[in-house]
Amino acid sequence: MIKAIGRFVLLAKSVIHARAIVFCIIGEAAIALPHMLALEKNRIMRTFKRKIRAALAAVIGLGTTTFLYAAYTSPSDIVCLFVRSAALESLPDGTLVEPSSSESERAMFLELQSQAKARIEKIFGAPRAHPIVAFFRESRTFWPLSVNNYGSSGAIGNTSCVIIGPKGQHVDVVAHELMHQELHERIGSWRMFTEVPVWFDEGVAMQVDFRPQYTLLKKAGSASNTGEIRALKSVRQFNHGNDEEITRHYTFAKTEVAQWLDNVGRYDLYKRFERIRAGEKFDVVVAR
Ligand SMILES: [Zn+2]
Repeated sequence: MIKAIGRFVLLAKSVIHARAIVFCIIGEAAIALPHMLALEKNRIMRTFKRKIRAALAAVIGLGTTTFLYAAYTSPSDIVCLFVRSAALESLPDGTLVEPSSSESERAMFLELQSQAKARIEKIFGAPRAHPIVAFFRESRTFWPLSVNNYGSSGAIGNTSCVIIGPKGQHVDVVAHELMHQELHERIGSWRMFTEVPVWFDEGVAMQVDFRPQYTLLKKAGSASNTGEIRALKSVRQFNHGNDEEITRHYTFAKTEVAQWLDNVGRYDLYKRFERIRAGEKFDVVVAR
């Protein structure tokens, strides 16, 4: 009997001990698990935040680099992006002007566009492009970007614009820039980018630009080979050189396109733009 009682006591002790161990483990786990979960959560959150910060830095870095590159290579396109949000006033036809522009200047800006469009219509047919046109008397309005002192033509996304600077407020420059827009409108951004060389874009714009410094003066006994201008396909190539060389590029481009138009007929120009848009190769449509 005493033995039986002794075994029962031993068994009870073992059970109590085992339960104590189990409770101890459960208790430890109950204390340790939330702590471990909190540590893991913190580690995941720190990693997540680090990755978010790195991704944001990459996006901001890439965006800034792209913007600065675009601003450097094609500032007129970037100005075009912001021109509508600039502190400018809109005339009834949508022309943008600086608020300080006088009434006579506003009337002049409208008259210049009217004359420029009439010139394009007379030479090639009615223009159909409707870019935003903005006139500036101050080239630093878009600081840190600056407006071209004469004129520029840009397109970004669905926005196309003509920016006329303080020295470009005459019909030659306005017609020149509007003609660039006509090519862009009729050929389309992608085909302009992939197919049309800069010498042709400039040569066509020069057909409605009568500034005398871009007229080829033929010296007796000498013949200029204006065909060499066809090698200048990029903006960088075309605008490379000193003032005299760049003026010669414009002059040669103007003459080369004028000679080509003499052969094919200038009233056919818009149709040729459509052919490039439809997929024909530039070299076929604008063969010498
Ligand atoms: Zn031009």
